[in-house]
Amino acid sequence: MKKLIYLLILAFSLSSCVQQADYQQKKPKNIILMIGDGMGLTHVHAALTAKKNNLNIARCRYIGLVKTHSSDNYITDSGASGTAIATGVKTKNGAIGVDTSGVAHQSILEIAEEHGKATGLVATAFITHATPAAFIAHNPDRHDYENIALDFLKTDIDVFIGGGKNHFMVRSDSLNLIDSLSIRNYQIVYDLISLENINSGKIAGLLYEEHPPPLSQGRADMLEKASLKAIEILNHDEDGFFLMIEGSQIDWAGHDNDTDYLIEETVEFDNTVGKVLDFAEKNGETLVIITADHETGGFSIIDGNYETGEVIGGFSSPNHTGIMVPLYAYGPGAEEFIGIYENTEIFDKMLKAFKFK
Ligand code: MG
Ligand code: ZN
Repeated sequence: MKKLIYLLILAFSLSSCVQQADYQQKKPKNIILMIGDGMGLTHVHAALTAKKNNLNIARCRYIGLVKTHSSDNYITDSGASGTAIATGVKTKNGAIGVDTSGVAHQSILEIAEEHGKATGLVATAFITHATPAAFIAHNPDRHDYENIALDFLKTDIDVFIGGGKNHFMVRSDSLNLIDSLSIRNYQIVYDLISLENINSGKIAGLLYEEHPPPLSQGRADMLEKASLKAIEILNHDEDGFFLMIEGSQIDWAGHDNDTDYLIEETVEFDNTVGKVLDFAEKNGETLVIITADHETGGFSIIDGNYETGEVIGGFSSPNHTGIMVPLYAYGPGAEEFIGIYENTEIFDKMLKAFKFK
């Protein structure tokens, strides 16, 4: 009898090994990378508390910790960390898509595009702002927004949605990039309602002249709607897609040391995570990676209440901090993201997941 039980256990564990091996060999067709700018573990925990102990991010079973320092600073900025994630190269603070010598490196978005995949960027900041820019532009200066806007025209990105219309229209060189986008078959939309009405083709969604406002000042559910629209459009491509979605203003709330702003933006980000994971769950071929480029504010939780959702926050800095940030992964290839590693390895792991390497 003992022997039989032993054999049964052996047979069962072998079959679960085989299942696991099957799962691990499965590669994703699509990658959705979600970056909460400045979103440290405490920001996520504040959202968890505000949502009364119910967080979409918690649906991810594979979790890692990411080191964020830049090539020249213990504390990174969003340019250098965005570049590390997008291109696999550590660079100086302030740089976008270039290494410490100013040499351009291809981003995961550009590589995906070369392999025939559809690509997209969504942000709740200028679409030319550091984080989205790191995936499409190459410039030693993250604040060179007009040239970063020009870089959008050097790619074949299918969908981009955010603010920063003025960097395309009201320029010191008097160029009107809207005309150039039209010639390249982009449907240009300036508001959410027009965006909702498009169901195929390329989209340039320049929804705000400058930055989108904070959620509490009228941005409504732009992040969720723009993200779902981008997924709908990109998912038409048989070769799959790469999409980066940024919750940009979690960082700004950290800089402002404003707990309410921080929670609103992180809760909204998590709500969008829920919709993205719903898509990934149904789709079955999508790897979702949720992480941050760095922590902002040295945010801590002094007290809270899961029943009322109340959070008492505290801050130790008006700037970014050097602590590792969590990464949460879901779907085929997610198991590669456990452990402690450099932000540049996110790029390596994405390449590997797409079998580009
Ligand atoms: Mg950002
Ligand atoms: Zn910041």
